[in-house]
Amino acid sequence: MPSSLQASYEEARRRLVSELKARGYIRSQMVEMAMLTVPRELFVPEDLRGKAYEDRPLPIGHGQTISAPSIAAYMTELLELSEGMRVLEVGTGSGYSAAVLATIAGERGHVWTIERVPELAARAEAILKQLGYGDRVTVIVGDGSLGYRQAAPYDRILVTAASPRVPRPLVEQLAENGVMVIPVGGKEGQVLTVIKKEGGQVYEKADLEVIFVPLVGAEGWQDQG
Ligand code: SAM
Repeated sequence: MPSSLQASYEEARRRLVSELKARGYIRSQMVEMAMLTVPRELFVPEDLRGKAYEDRPLPIGHGQTISAPSIAAYMTELLELSEGMRVLEVGTGSGYSAAVLATIAGERGHVWTIERVPELAARAEAILKQLGYGDRVTVIVGDGSLGYRQAAPYDRILVTAASPRVPRPLVEQLAENGVMVIPVGGKEGQVLTVIKKEGGQVYEKADLEVIFVPLVGAEGWQDQG
């Protein structure tokens, strides 16, 4: 990429981050640092790179989207993620949020991210490798509503697709003192829900209203017609 183009993406990224801070979506230094580090333009289709720093979701093929940067930032804030943690992401999509999570989790942490569409998983994995996240992020093709038992328990779980109910396997795979963030609700809209496990008890708190694509295979969709 020509250096003048790269400089203009960096400038657009800085502008977006300061706007998201002003609007309250970015509150911590960790999330700010990660959003300033990860080049969103590389995770969107080439013909949409000019829109990479607009605050909106963009299509990434296979009927799926990369979430708006404000939502990616806000979910990461709710996750209270810190260095060294083991993280499960359900819904790799473009791989962008996996890169944001891996930037914060650092070299001592690890991100496992599950995607059901093999082509999206392959593309995300290639970009993550190219950016140097290869040994800190494991991309898995599969049904994330079942979690990923092989590497459980997780300090943090981020679900970036909507589910009518919180999938039980994800609650089981959350570590003690763990935090999960998941959009819970029907196809018309959901509520970002923060789940905490403390002393063996599970606590739920509703946060922002959002709209995500469905978590395919999650229990409860069949009741919704
Ligand atoms: N985090 C992504 C990013 O940064 O680009 C955005 C995720 S997109 C809104 C939701 C993703 O969840 C889609 O790529 C979709 O294919 C995936 N998905 C839906 N149901 C799934 C399931 N049961 N298991 C794994 N991935 C699933």
